[in-house]
Parts: sequence; structure tokens; C-alpha cells
Amino acid sequence: MSQRPFELDPLFRAITALPGVGPKNGELMERLIGGPKVLDLLFHAPVDFIDRSFSCPVTHCPNGKVVTLEITVDKHFPNARKSQPYRVRATDESGAISLVFFRANKAWIEKQLPLKQKVIVSGKVEYFQGNPQMVHPDAITKPEERDLVEAIEPIYPLTQGITNKVLRKAMHGALEFIPQLPEWLDKTYKKRQNWSAWHEAVRALHTPELETELSPMHTTRMRLAYDELLANQLTLALMRERQRKINGRSVLPSKTLRTKVRDVLPFTLTVAQERSLSEIDTDMEEKARMIRLLQGDVGSGKTIVACMAMLNAVESGAQAAMMAPTEILARQHEQSLRPWLEAAGVRYVTLTGRNKGKERETILHQIKNGAAQIIIGTHAIFQQDVHYHDLALTVIDEQHRFGVDQRLALSNKNKGIDILAMTATPIPRTLSLTAYGDMEVSKLDEKPPGRKPVETLLIPTEKLDSMIEGLKRKIKDGARIYWVCPLVEESETLDLAAAEERFDILHSIFGDRVGLVHGRMKAAEKDSVMEEFSKGDLDILVATTVIEVGVNVPEATIMVIEHAQRFGLSQLHQLRGRVGRGADHSYCFLLYSGPLGETAKERLSIMRETEDGFVIAEKDLELRGSGDILGVRQSGMAAFRLADLAAHGELLAAARDDAKLIISKDPKLESARGQALKMLLYLFERDQAIKYFQGG
Ligand code: ADP
Ligand code: MG
Repeated sequence: MSQRPFELDPLFRAITALPGVGPKNGELMERLIGGPKVLDLLFHAPVDFIDRSFSCPVTHCPNGKVVTLEITVDKHFPNARKSQPYRVRATDESGAISLVFFRANKAWIEKQLPLKQKVIVSGKVEYFQGNPQMVHPDAITKPEERDLVEAIEPIYPLTQGITNKVLRKAMHGALEFIPQLPEWLDKTYKKRQNWSAWHEAVRALHTPELETELSPMHTTRMRLAYDELLANQLTLALMRERQRKINGRSVLPSKTLRTKVRDVLPFTLTVAQERSLSEIDTDMEEKARMIRLLQGDVGSGKTIVACMAMLNAVESGAQAAMMAPTEILARQHEQSLRPWLEAAGVRYVTLTGRNKGKERETILHQIKNGAAQIIIGTHAIFQQDVHYHDLALTVIDEQHRFGVDQRLALSNKNKGIDILAMTATPIPRTLSLTAYGDMEVSKLDEKPPGRKPVETLLIPTEKLDSMIEGLKRKIKDGARIYWVCPLVEESETLDLAAAEERFDILHSIFGDRVGLVHGRMKAAEKDSVMEEFSKGDLDILVATTVIEVGVNVPEATIMVIEHAQRFGLSQLHQLRGRVGRGADHSYCFLLYSGPLGETAKERLSIMRETEDGFVIAEKDLELRGSGDILGVRQSGMAAFRLADLAAHGELLAAARDDAKLIISKDPKLESARGQALKMLLYLFERDQAIKYFQGG
């Protein structure tokens, strides 16, 4: 049960409680605004506005300007044929203007514009053969309602089925719901920033009157962004504080096991790997709990570092676990680790959602009695009924795929256990701050030696045939090819259709050595196709974007990405990272169909210019703002509604300092400001965090 303060209730009501929002358009609206409640709507900021406050005599209207006019309906000229417009003549003292309607509904027009009546219309005036006319007025209403029309109309991001009119009507309703909340900002800071109260800021967000108010740097938007960043930083500061308090254990670096692994490694560790490893060793040796992020681009060799860290735990007689976000990744880890763990004589199990019944029982048993020293798997390894004998370290791969709340829950389960999080997503500093707070970071900023750069080519779709000819030759030389089909927005079905169609075409050209994997397949099917590709029984693997970050087939040297313009930079970079892992020269073909917009053009050319994940991540942030940098909105990272990290970097730093100070002065949020801050956390649904404040 949520303990949410009742003052917030109106904001948490369903949008269907608002005027003009029913179950059907409510669903569309929910998708548009990113949530089902009134607050989500209030956080849906306008991107523009139309000033309807200008009025003039009808014959003196500036051409092309939006005006609001009070006129008297004079005569209707219904259209004789469908192709012709329906015209209505109306007048004021200065003369006449035509109101023009295409594909008109006669009854509706007659009702809206009754003869000899005064009406208010608003819209753009244009001149046709020297006479003023208004095509499809944006608004028609009675003189009593002039005030409603003759105002500034905010323009919102829309979606099919939700017009600005519908959205505004709902918003009008929503604005009525705004409660006056206690101030959670530091008084001095707020004053210095010249910010208004929260309820005033929300209102102001939806009543822009000047161009500058649309800027992220406007005081209104800054204040609302700060609130969001503060809620985020406070949650993270809290997590850290809690984790600091839980006593860890001291785990000494492994000697014998590690040596056994080093003896069978076909390579030596890079300087960056050794450095990261010694940072991890130092952390683990300390009594305080380790919370460290190992950050390294795809192919930088995180797995072996994680393996060495896990050996510390095993050698000290404890267990270590490694959690991946998906089944495929978990299996892949098992494959990578197997030779090393076997060499070291370490017993391991793999547990995912796929293990059922008796088999699962056995695995759980081995985890519980300590027979399993290393546990590899998906989040299945942290389910309620999984009990560990003595877990000392958890490695979380692709940590950004787990949300902040999930991580909170996890850290709650593993009291005092060292955590090594890994990510292949090079995260700009600002973003890592919002996702991890001040987590310690080890960086693998050096690729293993012998890597050849991946040659990236932009290919227009028209050249597809000649590219395929080229691929035939490459396959003869033993190349293995990933072929990624486009992500069709919000439609897994279309996604799949595109991939299946491509599969059919390639199958007809290349025969049976073409495979297909997609998100709808059962895990076992997926694995077996991946396995065939990995063993070399398939030359081409057609995939929707299910080729997970982290999949490792060193023999694959060609990556084809269809409709590359639809992918974000980071996504393209991750996909390209699947190749260039072996000794052979690799290629990435970015297929696109023109004409390309400016941003798409820039994205693709950045891909051609650099392979540096950090440069690409910064560019990505620049090009599309922080909103969707990972292509995963619900990633717990950068899922901000109001803050724009590309613009609000300084606010973020301020919020971090603010949060630190709050936690040090008022760790239980008991002061007056503390109470208000709890309200802020509830507002942003950090209920988990609040539970901790209450020591629950
Ligand atoms: P990621 O950081 O993407 O998880 P992996 O750990 O999967 O990268 O490593 C990618 C490939 O590089 C693997 O085949 C791995 O065995 C190999 N590798 C790792 N470290 C080195 C190294 N120091 N020298 C050569 N190859 C290495
Ligand atoms: Mg990996």
C-alpha cells in the first residue's frame, strides 16, 4: 500500500477523469505523454504557441497572420460540387471576409455560423484575388467566449488521434487539479534562481507568452527540471548512504585460481584490464562494501575482468553471481566463462527463466548448499526462492538495463555483498551521474590488441543488389554476417514482418545457410539459431534488434544494418561492436533510404568517422538530447520528463550537491524541508526510496 500524501491524489488520478478523455483516446494519450495519470499530462510541455491575441478590422488583416475576429455572418454559399469549397461571407464595419471550408459538412457549418449572428473566429488570414479569407478557422465560438479564444494557445507534441484541441481541453482540466505543495527547495537557492512555487511553475509551463519561455533555460522549465533532478539525486544519495552503512566483508585477491586461468588464456590482459582489476581487488579487500562500475566499450574485454573478480570470492570460500539482462546474454557468458572456470576447477551453474521443475530444483539446491561456486544467469538468480550458501560478489552485466528501482530492490536483497556493475554503453559524465550518483568507475579505455578497425560504409538501398553480390564473394572467403532489420516504432509485428521478408529474400539467394532470430521466438529456439551461427553452420544471421549487446562471435566480420537512419547513434555503435572482434578485417554496412534529414545525415557520418564509444555517446547526447540516449526510455537512466541533460548539466551538479547536503544534515528527512522533500519523492514515485528513509 502506498503511503502517498493525500495532497498528491489529484495528480495521480487517471487522465480519463479529465474532460474529453475517454478510454479510447485515453490510451493514445497515455502513450503520447508517457503515463496514465494527470501528472504525466502536466509534465507534457508545449513546444510552441500561437498568439491569437491580435485583432483587426477584417479588411486590414496582415496577410498570413493569425488573428481573432468578431464578425457577423452574412450569407452562406454551399458548394455545388464536392471538389469545391463551401464559403461563408461575414462582415464587420470595415467590410467582408470569406470563411472557406473544404470537404464541408453543411449541417455543422450552418450550426456553427448561423445567419445574422455575431461570432468569434480565429485563424490565419490570407488574400485570394485581393479579398481576405480564412480557410478552416481554428476556432469558431460565441462572442461571450471571446476570452477563451483570444489568448495564447500552447502547441503540444501530438500523436495521431490526439489533436491539440483535445489535449488543451484535457490540460485545462488538469490545471484545475494542481495542488499547492509545501516548498522542498532551499529558500536561498530558489530566491537566487528567481524561481516561483511549484504550482505556479506548472501553470506557467502551459501558458507561454513569449518565445523565451519555451527554452529549457527559462526559469519555469529550470525549476521543474531541478525538481526532477533533485528527486533523482536524492534517491541515489540515499542508496549510497544505505549501502555505505551495510558492512561488507573483506575478500582477498585470488592467487592460485587466477594463475590457473592466466595459464590457459590465449592472450595477456591489457593495461586497462589490469588497472581495473587492481581497483576491484582493492575495493574487495576493504571491509566497506564495493559498489563499482566497470565501464568499457563493446569488445573491450569486461568478461575476463569479471571472471577474475569472481575468483576472489571463490578462493575465499564464498560464492559469486553474474547477472545478465537476457537469456541469450546469460548463455553467452556461460560459454565465455566455461573454459576459464574449468581450468580453475571452479564449479558453476547457470540459472534462467528457462530452467523449470526438477532441473531448477537441482540448481537451487546447488546454490543453497554451496556446491555451485559461481552462479550465472538472468534476474532469475535473484528471485525470492533462490537462497545462497554464502554470496560475496554480484556482477551485474549491462547494468543500465536494470532500472533504479530494480537495483534498489537488488541491493536490498544482497545485504553487504560487493557489487560490480558493468556497462558497454559509454555514458557521458552527466548521464552516469543521474544513473549512478557518485559510483566508483573503472574504465576499460583500451581495446585488446590486434583489433582491426571496422570499416563503415553508407549504402543507399538502391545499391542493395550490388552489395549482395559483394557479400557472396565474402562468404566464399568464409565471412559470417549479421543482418539487422529495422526497428519499426511501436510495432513488434511489423518488425518481425520486415525481418521475415528479408530472411525469405536472402534465403532465396543464399539457401539454407541463412538463419533468423527475433524477439518472438522461444528462448531455446533463439539459442539454437545463435549456436548454429556461432559454430559456423550459418553464414548469415538475420535478426531484429534482438542481437544483444555482448553477444560474441569473433568470426563474424560483417554487420549489415537496414534502415540505419532509424537507429540512434548509440544503438548503431552497439550493433557495430558485434564485429571487429576477431583477427579479420571487418565491415559495417549502413543501409539507408533517402532523403535523409539533417540529424540522420550527421548520425550516419559520425558512424563513418569514429569508433570511439565515448565520442559517439557525447554526440548522441548532443544530437537528440538526453531523453532517449539509450533507445531505452525506461532504463532508469535519463528517463527524465522535464530535465534535458544536454541543457541542464549545471542544474544536475547543483542537485547532486544539494542532495548530499540534505542527506548529511537530515538523513531521515524529518525537518520541515525534509517533509516537503518526501513529498517531492512521492511526486516522482520514488516510493522505494521513501521506505528506506523510514527505515523500513
Ligand atoms: P565485452 O567488454 O564487450 O564484454 P568481452 O569480454 O566479450 O567484451 O571480450 C571480447 C573478446 O575479446 C572476447 O573474445 C575476449 O576473449 C577477448 N579478449 C578479452 N581481453 C582480451 C585481451 N586482453 N587480449 C585479446 N583478446 C581479449
Ligand atoms: Mg560483455
